[in-house]
Amino acid sequence: MAAGDCVILGRNIVALECADRRLLDVCDAERSNALMIPRLHHDGPLAAGAAVALSAEQAHYLRNVLRREAGAAVRLFNARDGEFAAVLSGLDKKCARAAIGVQRRAPQAEPDIRLHFAPVKRAAIELIVQKGTELGAAAFAPVLTDRTNAERVRTDRLQAIALEAAEQCGRLSVPCVEEPRSLADMLANWEAGRTLIYCDEAGDDPTVEWGGLAGRADPMQGAVRATGAGPCSILVGPEGGFSPQERALLRSKPFVLPVTLGPRILRADTAAIVSLALWQAAAGDLARR
Ligand code: SAH
Repeated sequence: MAAGDCVILGRNIVALECADRRLLDVCDAERSNALMIPRLHHDGPLAAGAAVALSAEQAHYLRNVLRREAGAAVRLFNARDGEFAAVLSGLDKKCARAAIGVQRRAPQAEPDIRLHFAPVKRAAIELIVQKGTELGAAAFAPVLTDRTNAERVRTDRLQAIALEAAEQCGRLSVPCVEEPRSLADMLANWEAGRTLIYCDEAGDDPTVEWGGLAGRADPMQGAVRATGAGPCSILVGPEGGFSPQERALLRSKPFVLPVTLGPRILRADTAAIVSLALWQAAAGDLARR
């Protein structure tokens, strides 16, 4: 970019003279305009002073959707290296390059909470992944159960939703959306030391709706607090709930902690969002600034 060229950042116009000066000016502008500056996940290594190539999708988004040009400020982040100020050093149809400036946030440990859910309708799954990402889920693992009757799970689309939600909400990691697997397979290959928090709305009496009150699990928040810290997963069933056989199998496993989410029966997407929020409040980072 030639001396005197200008970059419009929101309402600020920053005069640019040379590459070093440019980075400093954009960083100054960034302080007052942080929300206007695109925040993009970058898988590769990030370090002050390095130059990186962004993906073709990111080049398209910056150029055609956000109407940015070379010289514009961006923020790049990943869980391994943290978040950095950066400037687009080149931008054309298929290719974007960025010069990385100062580190804005150091990497930090995030709560180890995974969400296993039985696929439901497409809109509800997308809501689970978007809101679950905002609530800090570390991964999404679709699980096929006796009563799962969902359309095909589009993991590529769900991964894109998780990426967009992570970029928007300020977290450093992007949760992985895994391929669906059966409940039996999931339980047979359970990771040692991880607690499976089973959202179980049912009671034990087959003659009463929802199984009555007998045998109901303990409320989630108290149960999670009593279990203490450590890697956890949450399991939410399909619209029709888990079958009696699945419920018995789940409750027979030593790593399973059955919990109730209160006296009302929630839709699966609501249950996923509520259970993540309760776990984050009891054992995760919702109590933090
Ligand atoms: N059994 C019901 C409802 C299933 S709700 C039916 O036959 O229609 C879908 C899932 O959300 C359940 O499998 C459970 O994992 C979770 N869920 C909903 N309400 C809940 C509650 N009050 N406590 C615990 N889990 C709940």
